[in-house]
Amino acid sequence: SILSNQLPTAELQALDAAHHMHPFTTNDELKERGVRVITRGKGVYLSDSEGNQILDAMSGLWCVNIGYGRERMVQAAARQMMELPFYNTFFNTTHTPAIALAAELAKLAPEGLNHVFFAGSGSEANDTNLRMVRTYWAEKGQPQKSHVISRKNAYHGSSMGSGSMGGMSYMHEQGGMPIPGIHHIDQPDWWAEGGDSAPEDFGLERARQLDAKIEELGAENVAAFIAEPVQGAGGVIVPPATYWPEIQRICEKHNVLIIADEVICGFGRTGNWFGSQTLGIKPHIMTIAKGLSSGYAPIGGSIVCDEIAEVINAVEFNHGYTYSGHPVCAAVALENLHILQEENILDHVRDVAAPALRETLDVLGQHPLVGGVNVCGMMASLPLTPHRESRAKFAMDTGTAGFMCREACFANDLVMRHVGDRMIISPPLVITPDEIDVFRTRALKALDDTY
Ligand code: PLP
Repeated sequence: SILSNQLPTAELQALDAAHHMHPFTTNDELKERGVRVITRGKGVYLSDSEGNQILDAMSGLWCVNIGYGRERMVQAAARQMMELPFYNTFFNTTHTPAIALAAELAKLAPEGLNHVFFAGSGSEANDTNLRMVRTYWAEKGQPQKSHVISRKNAYHGSSMGSGSMGGMSYMHEQGGMPIPGIHHIDQPDWWAEGGDSAPEDFGLERARQLDAKIEELGAENVAAFIAEPVQGAGGVIVPPATYWPEIQRICEKHNVLIIADEVICGFGRTGNWFGSQTLGIKPHIMTIAKGLSSGYAPIGGSIVCDEIAEVINAVEFNHGYTYSGHPVCAAVALENLHILQEENILDHVRDVAAPALRETLDVLGQHPLVGGVNVCGMMASLPLTPHRESRAKFAMDTGTAGFMCREACFANDLVMRHVGDRMIISPPLVITPDEIDVFRTRALKALDDTY
């Protein structure tokens, strides 16, 4: 980047500490430790201002599905900027990138999901969803059918609506979330909360909490259930196989809409276009972002089923963002979808990358610090534990071991994130078996260094 070519790292760090407020970060601690300045990306590797070559096993923030440094993406953005850098999609206007992207998404989405409402991010899209499902039921003559049920430890974004639907208690402690009308049931995290029960029984027990919550609120008052097919930011929590079929049955029984938050699971992460296909979910709305553009441009949206779109399209839905369907972002996202298809990246995931990753995770899972492997396609977590058999917690504060391991990863030129004491893996989908071998070597070294 321009600055890093001109300034030494220490000066960049000082400027950062003086002026840049980081999300989800204790900025003062960062000031003491010094922030790492990322300067370039190519394929699955990042460079920093000190010239280190870092393997990014997180795809940035679950975003860069096609890998870094794609010339075609640059060209698509440049072409669109020259042609039409901005126009809105409000007030009886549209433009070709938004049209083409919406049509392409309708083609890729499961049957019956044919309409797209664009946003700038996953948070914005989930705020859209909240207002859309309530408006849908109100227009159907049931304005009281407005409550939304979500799950503890879910992540749906940081805005008031999406953060309220999310189930992160540490977020709810700040700034007045959750807003009224949102309810949270327990998550299907067998590894952490399943105790002695069989995963299948635990999955059913957790799903049936939804039934109980709907009964408690009255089905006539419940608009929707929102969930990630596989919880991502909560720690890559792959639900037991019994969970989603039971959730689907319960929602159908009570006429409650399903919003599948595909922000992480979408665009090949689980081996299909959408996590809903992998997990066997039939959603009414899917939230998309991140992998939609592989993070090359900020764009999100809601893919909406015919029935809801018909109702919403018949009224003026007083909702939208200046950057809904931003032409440059839409052109970049479209190019990303073309790359995913032309390079058969989903086949690569299914046939090559996911099996190779699974093999490596099984090796890492044998490390004395690791208590198991949670994996679905190209998203995975390794819970750290002092005692594998009992899935025990550390005596130290939760997150300390995870933090230590993340730092050890960084010292070994590897990005793995930690959520509490779980190490999170979500590499670019294009990662090769050789690169997965590099990941394995560095991860093992980091685990050894932490142990
Ligand atoms: N939904 C899920 C499942 C996410 O993982 C995220 C972000 O991590 C969001 C929504 C929010 O997306 P954004 O950060 O683009 O607002």
